[in-house]
Amino acid sequence: MNIILLGPPGAGKGTQAKRLVEKYHIPQVSTGDMLRAALKEGTPLGLEAKKYMDAGGLVPDSVVIGLVKERIQKPDATGGYMLDGFPRTVAQAQELDSILGTLGQTIDHVVSVEVPSSELLGRLTGRRTCRACGAGFHVIFDPPKKEGVCDKCGGELYQRSDDNEATVQSRLETYEAQTKPLIDYYQKASKLRRIDGVGQMDDILGRIQKVLG
Ligand code: AMP
Repeated sequence: MNIILLGPPGAGKGTQAKRLVEKYHIPQVSTGDMLRAALKEGTPLGLEAKKYMDAGGLVPDSVVIGLVKERIQKPDATGGYMLDGFPRTVAQAQELDSILGTLGQTIDHVVSVEVPSSELLGRLTGRRTCRACGAGFHVIFDPPKKEGVCDKCGGELYQRSDDNEATVQSRLETYEAQTKPLIDYYQKASKLRRIDGVGQMDDILGRIQKVLG
């Protein structure tokens, strides 16, 4: 099963993707995670991407499309994959369609995780992640027992450099202008499944599973 998780930054796509991976045994393919990994390794691609990420804009299509094309052909993706944060523009979606055509694949479901824009700023600026195990927390909605320390492994919690208020505002504007049109794109392709992204994490997971069947 090939799935796209669509939604604004802060909709909880990454969190739900991590849980869906365990249920469906298909890998999460997150372009944001891949770009952050490249940056951490200090590769030229990662350093180039940083400029765009820090400004809350989009990394050029050619870069992310290359990453995804390579990733979905890895052995662990033969049974399907869950795209998280890709595509992010109509041009990326069209290019994905063409790549999938050559691979003889299709997208089965596009799950649009919908959250009112008024909620997103607070969700994003309060996010904290464990440096060691990657677990996610939120200073208000899901605080760790001890401030700055991961409940699961004791690792140090950090705030993503693009989760500060100024960059978050730009990311939300980028979403509205460049990514939101994908809702219409996949609606026209009869692939879109809309779900309410507000509520308890387990309930949201249940809604996604229901539409995936
Ligand atoms: P994310 O982790 O999905 O919020 O992505 C973090 C940042 O990585 C975004 O704000 C973009 O700068 C960049 N990025 C991630 N995915 C894409 C994509 N599909 N196209 C362009 N830029 C991307």
